[in-house]
Amino acid sequence: MKAAILYAPQTSEKRPLTIGEIPKPQLKTGEVLLRVRACGVCRTDLHIVRGELPAQRSPLVPGHQIVGEIVDGATAELPAGTRVGVSWMGGVDGTCSYCRRGLENLCDLPTFTGYSADGGFAEFAAARADFVFPLPDNLDDLHAAPLLCAGIIGFRSLRVAGVEHGDHVGLFGFGASAHLAISVLRSWDCQVYVSTRGSTHRALAASLGAAWVGTEKEKPPVALDRAITFAPSGDVVVAALSSLRKGGVVAINAIHLDRIPEFDYDRLLWGERQIRSVTNMTRSDAHDFLDTASRIGLRPKAVAFSLGHANEALLAIERDSVDGAAVILPGGG
Ligand SMILES: [Zn+2]
Ligand SMILES: [Zn+2]
Repeated sequence: MKAAILYAPQTSEKRPLTIGEIPKPQLKTGEVLLRVRACGVCRTDLHIVRGELPAQRSPLVPGHQIVGEIVDGATAELPAGTRVGVSWMGGVDGTCSYCRRGLENLCDLPTFTGYSADGGFAEFAAARADFVFPLPDNLDDLHAAPLLCAGIIGFRSLRVAGVEHGDHVGLFGFGASAHLAISVLRSWDCQVYVSTRGSTHRALAASLGAAWVGTEKEKPPVALDRAITFAPSGDVVVAALSSLRKGGVVAINAIHLDRIPEFDYDRLLWGERQIRSVTNMTRSDAHDFLDTASRIGLRPKAVAFSLGHANEALLAIERDSVDGAAVILPGGG
């Protein structure tokens, strides 16, 4: 099969992916074989190809936002031809103390699609049958793929923040995750306050129904019930805290923060305010988000690339030169 393969980490300019032929994946017990119809490109893929995340296997086929149809390993619940999505969490051990408590997002031995297992920048991909999500018909391939990472994790952030119907919610930063989360929040009748750098992001937030839009230096005009921060910056976390009502929650949607600056406990945290981090996702987050996305007709902006242009897709993400999400369509090239 044709695939985009990472043999050694490189900067995006040096075309890290080799487009070539490799054998189709051999299925292990409990796996299904997918003919890949689309695979989204995520910022995490950049960290992987550049070697900023330590290599887990080599060679590697990256890609963790896969839309595919089942062509082998079909089961009664997942008949051949079923169109499914695969996300970053490709599997958990099911036996560690976190899995046993229903906290599979915190599993001690997870499998990450397109990182510790081969992913979807290829004509075919193997996936654990219990970690694929049947896709609603009204989410087409190109527009479903970008939902499978940023969308699901953004949705989990809303849960971790404890968002309730009608809440005043602050979004600090407005990238891929936030611009999907705002539509979910609007469908819950929440008032959304967006602080972000960059006038194009502010214009997009306004067009998607934000009640208020400001720069990263401005404060929302109301006390927030919940806030979600997306920037890898501790200053942003403190800015979010300073806008929070008593009993409110800040959820941090970032794998890495530069630091947490010193802040005034009496004024910013006392009053049962909470700071929580958001880590990975569970299968129920994925199911519930995809149901919501289908119901509200969520349609992210997406631009198609052929598999032969996988390096160009990475470069476009790196340079922020693509208007929306980049999605590889292996059938189209
Ligand atoms: Zn991702
Ligand atoms: Zn586990």
